[in-house]
Amino acid sequence: MITAHFVLAGNSVFTVEPPVAWVQTMPGARPQYTYRVERKPASLDFPEAFFVMFLTGADPTQCAAYQYLGQLEPDTGEVNATRQSKRWEGTRALAVADRALRCVWKDGGKAMLAAGWDVHHECLCGGCGAPLAPEFEERGLHPACWAKLRAQFERFWEPAFPVTPGAIGVDERNTGD
Ligand SMILES: [Zn+2]
Repeated sequence: MITAHFVLAGNSVFTVEPPVAWVQTMPGARPQYTYRVERKPASLDFPEAFFVMFLTGADPTQCAAYQYLGQLEPDTGEVNATRQSKRWEGTRALAVADRALRCVWKDGGKAMLAAGWDVHHECLCGGCGAPLAPEFEERGLHPACWAKLRAQFERFWEPAFPVTPGAIGVDERNTGD
């Protein structure tokens, strides 16, 4: 299972594997759905955003293998199509991303796991995208990337995920647990 922190790390790749029975009974369902969530920092013109990309090519390490699916709501885990991704509206790829991430946000994915759904990362760091050594696989982030994430997204460590616009971008902070 993955965490909301991992998903929001900036460059996370993860795969949703529905139960076999679900795949067999749903027409056109895939045995796995791989996504990439890219963080776009706030600019003068746009607020911070998290873009969800769907793997339609073969290699999950290549950005070109993904297509833009929609935007992730960082406070709830909801994934919605936008004007630029209208064609994905009503598709299983979008519904699976939305369902899986909302479940991860709600209870860390426990209920989904109990129902036979698996969500796992692809052994790539959620922050920098480089491969992960086995000792860092549980968190899904290199120690340096984890420390950076904590500093940048301290607000996401609050239980209710309160949004404090402008709170990001602080690099020097105590990152100890
Ligand atoms: Zn990293």
